[in-house]
Amino acid sequence: MSSAVSPRTAVVVGAGVAGLSTAWFLLQEGVEVTVVDRGHVGAGASWGNAGWLSPALAVPLPEPSALRVGLKAFSSTSPVRVPLPVDPTLARFLARFARNCTHRRWQVALQALSVLNRQALDAYDDLAQGGVADTMWRQDPVLIAFADEDQREQMLTEIGHLGSSGMPVDLDVLDGDATRDRELTLSDRIRAGILLRGQRSIDPPRFLASLYKAVVEAGGRVLEGDAVTGISDTGGDVRVDLADGTTLRTDTVVLAAGGWISPLARKFGVRTPVQAGRGYSFSMPAEGLPTTPTYLPSQKVVFTPLDGRVRVSGIMEFADPERPLDRKSIETIIAAATPILGDVDWSRRRDEWVGSRPCTVDGLPLVGRTESQRVFICGGHGMWGIAHGPLTGKLLTQQIISGRPPAELAALSPLR
Ligand SMILES: Cc1cc2nc3c(=O)[nH]c(=O)nc-3n(C[C@H](O)[C@H](O)[C@H](O)COP(=O)(O)OP(=O)(O)OC[C@H]3O[C@@H](n4cnc5c(N)ncnc54)[C@H](O)[C@@H]3O)c2cc1C
Repeated sequence: MSSAVSPRTAVVVGAGVAGLSTAWFLLQEGVEVTVVDRGHVGAGASWGNAGWLSPALAVPLPEPSALRVGLKAFSSTSPVRVPLPVDPTLARFLARFARNCTHRRWQVALQALSVLNRQALDAYDDLAQGGVADTMWRQDPVLIAFADEDQREQMLTEIGHLGSSGMPVDLDVLDGDATRDRELTLSDRIRAGILLRGQRSIDPPRFLASLYKAVVEAGGRVLEGDAVTGISDTGGDVRVDLADGTTLRTDTVVLAAGGWISPLARKFGVRTPVQAGRGYSFSMPAEGLPTTPTYLPSQKVVFTPLDGRVRVSGIMEFADPERPLDRKSIETIIAAATPILGDVDWSRRRDEWVGSRPCTVDGLPLVGRTESQRVFICGGHGMWGIAHGPLTGKLLTQQIISGRPPAELAALSPLR
């Protein structure tokens, strides 16, 4: 169903990459936008992530091999973790997630993500042309490093699926020597590699600060430190209740509250839960750390060189987004990276951080209209919200303004 009239005003809930991008594209269409965040700009996953805009790696999270991780996920030293005890909501999420870990469902989800992957970088170019700074930190090949050739073959098969779905992929297959020549910090535990071209990365805090500035310069209002506690469609407009006791009235609401979206979305008919997949990061002085953006798939550790330091990130911990940072997870990342890098003084780390990837059971984001024609969602981007956030914000804006969902959003309906 299409809404008859384009909205004059919008409230966006959440000031991460999804919310700020949607706000920016709505402002370009002349909509008056207020962004509300319970914390501050970048209080969620959009701050401490790895910053990779790597469409050639963006595949759905529920894959057949995820089931093999299975019980290992309950171990406190696994890079994929489910801390015990598991509450009933998380148990239901995991059961539905497991049902999506089949090759057929993974292929279906991959087709939908491929549509986003092909256009993801164009949306960053739109932001750049519209005056948003810091939309590109590097445009370089990224390196994927493996302990053996079998692991490399598995990754090549995955990347091959993306290639056959129309995503241009340009890569070199490297042996151990060539991988270590390319990145001298890697130890001889590394026996195989892939050098993937045409990818980009951002410096997440700088990009978010620029996007926030651009939203404000375009006339957007950003309210920080105030949580949205309730949303109701009155039939004529939408009422947004805030924790400080005030109420906003608006034509349209966009829920972009990351790992916290489900309690707000459920009332509007959204049955696909969004579960926090918590990840950790910290930064290190650059010496002894990779100079090329480098991913170790077996260890699930990513190195992102940023301005004299290197951000080290990893871990997928399905747990409550309010849990405090668990130092054991930082130690797990260090234990996994140490044999690969050799002698590094990890005590020099700074900026320890935990953030929640907003994960869905089928690995696809939720982007589009809810049961209310005035309430929309841009969320659930999981592992790939930095890569896909601006594009989905742009496509959702097209839907809000025209009343019709663009074809790219068909598989992402929040009512699926
Ligand atoms: C370790 C790690 C590495 C990652 N690396 C990459 C990568 O390399 N590439 C990539 O594409 N993606 C990556 N991601 C995923 C990416 O960070 C997320 O998908 C993305 O940031 C999600 O953005 P978001 O705007 O939906 O959510 P968030 O950034 O979490 O923003 C949600 C906001 O909503 C606010 N909020 C919540 N509830 C309310 C409420 N009731 N009222 C008001 N405000 C509210 C929160 O305070 C928060 O600021 C990574 C994630 C992690 C954890």
